[in-house]
Formats: sequence, C-alpha cells, structure tokens
Amino acid sequence: MTTLASNYWNPYLETMAPEELRRLQLEKFQRIIAWAYERSPFYRELYSQAGLEPGDIKTWQDVRRVPTVDKGMLKSAQEAQPFPYGSRLCVPLEQVAEFRQTSGTTGTPVYQADTWQDWEWWSECWSYILWAQGYRATDRVFIPFGYNIFVAFWAGHYAAEKLGCEVVPGGVLDTASRVLKIKELQATALMGTPTYMLNMADVAKNRLGIDPAGLAIKRITCAGEPGASLPSTKKRMEEAWGAKVFDHAGATEIGAWSYECTAQCGGIHANEGMFLVEIEDPMTGEIIEEPGRKGKMIITALDRLAQPCLRFDSKDIIEWAAEPCPCGRTYRIIKGGVQGRADDITKVKGVLLSPSAIEEVVRGFDELADEYEVVVERIGDNDKITLKVEFNPGAQATEQEVLGRLKDQLRLKTNLGYQIEVHPLGSLTRYEVKARRFKDTRHLH
Ligand SMILES: [Zn+2]
Repeated sequence: MTTLASNYWNPYLETMAPEELRRLQLEKFQRIIAWAYERSPFYRELYSQAGLEPGDIKTWQDVRRVPTVDKGMLKSAQEAQPFPYGSRLCVPLEQVAEFRQTSGTTGTPVYQADTWQDWEWWSECWSYILWAQGYRATDRVFIPFGYNIFVAFWAGHYAAEKLGCEVVPGGVLDTASRVLKIKELQATALMGTPTYMLNMADVAKNRLGIDPAGLAIKRITCAGEPGASLPSTKKRMEEAWGAKVFDHAGATEIGAWSYECTAQCGGIHANEGMFLVEIEDPMTGEIIEEPGRKGKMIITALDRLAQPCLRFDSKDIIEWAAEPCPCGRTYRIIKGGVQGRADDITKVKGVLLSPSAIEEVVRGFDELADEYEVVVERIGDNDKITLKVEFNPGAQATEQEVLGRLKDQLRLKTNLGYQIEVHPLGSLTRYEVKARRFKDTRHLH
C-alpha cells in the first residue's frame, strides 16, 4: 500500500444506512491503523506496547482496545526525527506539502504536516460543511481571515472554490476595509469566529454607519469557538447580519470533522464518512452509544496520511442527540455542538487545579503506593475533591501522621482541601496503557 484510495469522494456517504456507514468506518479504521503502524515509529511502539497489531482489529470491540493518544503524546513524538514533525510522520519529508500548527496559548504547538492528498482531503471535508450550509456556485464568499500558520479557514477557502463559489480573500485588510469591500462586492457569505462576526457587525454599525443586516450576506460559517451553537450568541449574530449562522467544529490535529446543516436542528453532524467519533465516559472508559450521556470525544481521522490522528483524546465534551436530523443525512448529531473541554487544568472551588500537581505531591510520599485516584464532584453548589490512596507495606510513620503531612502538602501545592480515603493496597484500578486517575464528574450532571 503506497497510498490510500480516495474513496471519500462517494457522493452518497451522508445518506448511507447506519449499518453500512459503520461497516465503512470499520474498514477505513483497519486501513488507517495498518498505514500508521507500518510507517510511524510512534504508532508502532504505542501499539506494540499494548500487544496490538493492525490485523487484530476485526470488530468494534477491538477498535476500543486501541490506545488513545493525546496532545502531550503528539508533542513528545515530534521531538524525534525527522525535524520538525518527528515519529508520527508516515511519509517522507519530500511528500509534505503543507505546514500548520496548533494555536494553543501556552507551551509548544503541535506541528502538523499534510501531503497534497491530505490537503485535497481537507477541502473535501470543508466542501461537506459548506454544501450542507447552503453554499452554491452562485455565492460570493468573503473570507476575513489572516491567512497564516494556523489552519483555521484555509480549507474553507479551497472548499468554496471547489464548489464553484467565487472567493474573495480578505486577508490583511482591517475590519472597516473588510466591511466596505463586502458592501462594494455584495458578498453573500462569510466565515469567521463568533467573536469576530459580532465585532465586525459592531464596526459596520457604529463606525461606518452601515447596517450589516442590510448587506447581501445570507450565510455565515463560524468556527473556533462554540458561540454558533449557543442559542443566544447565534441569535445575536443572525439578527446583526440578517443572515443564517452555522456552526462547525474542527481542529488542526484532527481535521474539519463536523458541521451544522441548514435544518439547524440544535446540533452538528459528525462527518462519519471521514471521521470516527467516539464518546468515552471519563469515569469508566466505556464508549457511550446512547444519546443524552455526556463524555469526552475520542476521534480518528480515517483518511489522513502524513500524520494520522488515531483515537485522539480531544478533551471535548459532547453527547449524541436522540433524534436524527430532519435534513435526511444519516450522520449522527452532536447535541448543542462541543459543550466544553475536560482539560488537564480545571477549576475547582474557583481555583485552577492541575492533576499533575496532585501527582507530584502524592508520588513524593514513599509511604504511598504508585496508584491513586482523584474524584472531583459537585455536591449541591460545592465542589468536593476526594483523593484515594493506598499505603505501601512497612511504613515507619503512622497512617495518621502521613495523612496529616499529605493534606498539608496538597494545600500548599494546590491551594485546595481534600477528603482523603485510604484503600487497601492493590484495590484501586491499575491501568495498562493510559491512566484515568483524575475523574472530574462535574460536566456530567
Ligand atoms: Zn442535518
């Protein structure tokens, strides 16, 4: 296998019978895991350690045994050769056609390589978004975006061209100039973050004396923030622009994996022909199939070649909707879009808490066993943190004395109080591949 067939061009993907779609996803998963295992030292090592080979993946149960990856793992992998992408890269460097990087505010970004075929795949994914949101060849699309190292609306630009729309790249213009250009050209569609769409409307109205609702804009595609799925923000944007506003969620490492359609059913379609979206219960690690239960999104880009992303723990909190979308697409709906992030750093009792700070304290006590567990719960209006520990045999100090020091250290390092439970040695869950020691259940209620 030197390349992956482009069978994502299938025009009937979006209306496939669910069981047929599941079958296609499984086949694509088998194909991408074999591709990654054969070419990427990162994936090969990860799966070897888990005792897995691509040929072992025969059923959905097998898929769920495949270790997840997270951003930290992707960053470590890029420290290896070849520079700057590292051991997740599956193609020779000379096949890399595009560089992008993640836009996190802290720490090292993830560098993302794409081949030319990947780049065509990006615009294909975005074509689904735009078509579902009513973009047609008659649209004149103004893209007010700073074309740069972030992936953002780059692929939206190419997808609009691919659908035959006319594209106006509104790159380095300032906001007022952009509004004037939209007016001058009678542009019919726009792409941007919710914050910027509101800001632009404000500049039009209050600085230029132009009512944006009186312009020709009919549709706006939002990304980058959850606003377009929040009813109040959506309404505000739709009224300001006199246009329909649609949500889309995507990410640099994953791709453009979802879209709201013109039916605006209160959620976004997962693009299940090109991605595998799984929802994991953060408490049990179980995959949630039923609607109405929130969990973390675990996502696989099924057709991306240069740096595949398999079972990526995105930290996005999502849930399946109970009803299919009235538009007729069989791709499942994620109710209310992405609802938040089960991030590493979380706010407890108003204090920012990093699970690694707890780990540092607990692991500093020789008297305590390696395994521990933290559960954050909301009880009434209060957050409660329970730390479960085990004692190693043969400790010199008394249990009471150790627990006293532990509480003091935790308060010193994290500014929070903990309820500490002592469990018999060996009774807490042991993890083989990826630990789930930090359980924040507050998003789930
Ligand atoms: Zn729909």
